[in-house]
Amino acid sequence: MLPSSSHIETRAVHSGMSGLTESGSHVPVIDLSTTNHLTGVDSGGDSYENLATGGTLQPGDSAVYQRLWQPGVARFEESLSSLEGSESTVAFASGMAALTATLIATVTAGKPHIVALRPIYGGTDHVLASGLLGTEITWADAGGVTAAIRPNTGLVILESPANPTLQLTDIRAIVDAAGTVPVLVDNTFATPVLQRPLESGATLVLHSATKYIGGHGDAMGGTVSGPEEWMVRLRQVRALTGGLLHPLSAYLLHRGLRTLPVRVRAQQATAGLIAGRLVGHPALSRVLYPGLTGQDPQALIGRQCAGAGSLIALDFGDYDAAARFTESLRLITHAVSLGGVDSLVQHPASLTHRPVEASARPSAGVVRISVGLEHVDDLMADILAALEASREAGTVRSTVPLVG
Ligand SMILES: *Cc1c(COP(=O)(O)O)cnc(C)c1O
Repeated sequence: MLPSSSHIETRAVHSGMSGLTESGSHVPVIDLSTTNHLTGVDSGGDSYENLATGGTLQPGDSAVYQRLWQPGVARFEESLSSLEGSESTVAFASGMAALTATLIATVTAGKPHIVALRPIYGGTDHVLASGLLGTEITWADAGGVTAAIRPNTGLVILESPANPTLQLTDIRAIVDAAGTVPVLVDNTFATPVLQRPLESGATLVLHSATKYIGGHGDAMGGTVSGPEEWMVRLRQVRALTGGLLHPLSAYLLHRGLRTLPVRVRAQQATAGLIAGRLVGHPALSRVLYPGLTGQDPQALIGRQCAGAGSLIALDFGDYDAAARFTESLRLITHAVSLGGVDSLVQHPASLTHRPVEASARPSAGVVRISVGLEHVDDLMADILAALEASREAGTVRSTVPLVG
């Protein structure tokens, strides 16, 4: 057992590893069993009942079936709880599966109304705006949360830094404004290394573990961390609806998490240097990065979060220049996603935020870079060359196509 005073670096390396030394293993065993031996008809039935209603595996009980319980997934969940400082965590097949399970739990508890702050991840915006899961949505800004709440409001949802403008939101202020309504923070961009929303009063923390937590672009997963009373409901939704994290992905995400603190800090240091060097570049109308002067007006860095992270948004002011820049990068890969060891670039308005209604869509001139672990000089050389290319008049393109 790790002492509760252990630092996050130590917890990242050692959490979720209990019992391994005794069993003779050094790293978690990848158990691909879809089914498990039952010790008896009565005891098997009891185990099934416990797990299908959201309970946790009890000593001596059978895990029954992979949809009900998976030991490697449980180890990964324990580790993430240790980093976020939560009572428990439930892991899913993806960040969107994690959000879906949370919304199903909210709707079935008779609280289908959701208040969410824009901007937010495009997929989250899409699922909420569509009402696909039986939710009703009210979009609010930070000052409008209290007025938006109704007797049937089940959740307030926010992201900080937000996707893709990277603006910060005061979590504590939203928790106060939400009153008794639980606040869910999507902490994918900040990670528990820079920000632990439960310490600011949030009830639930969501991750797309596909991003920084895995960190190598080779495993998808999602998590929700929070109080056990919520996690029981989420485990039940997972057992019944099947949005499971695969044991191989759980292994990779758990392994990635062990280096999370060093990766996040190294990537953040490089991003800070790049953002600073790009300020005032004639090809850009704005560099969006919360660590730059004037971009954290509430002084949340140092109070709510330990740093600005490693995502940078560049505003070219127009779509053509943004597209030419994106397509001219050579070292930085043009691909969706973020948080991995290699740097990626994407154009939110035409890609991740394409489903978002036009009035709330990010500006077509904005490009988002996820800064990886490459050397800053190599990244800068790539970015500067692409900035030059962005200024050369190229083929004039149409504006971003609208999706209905
Ligand atoms: C990617 C992402 C999601 C969705 O996660 P998936 O693992 O792709 O399903 C949710 N929120 C944020 C902030 C993300 O970046």
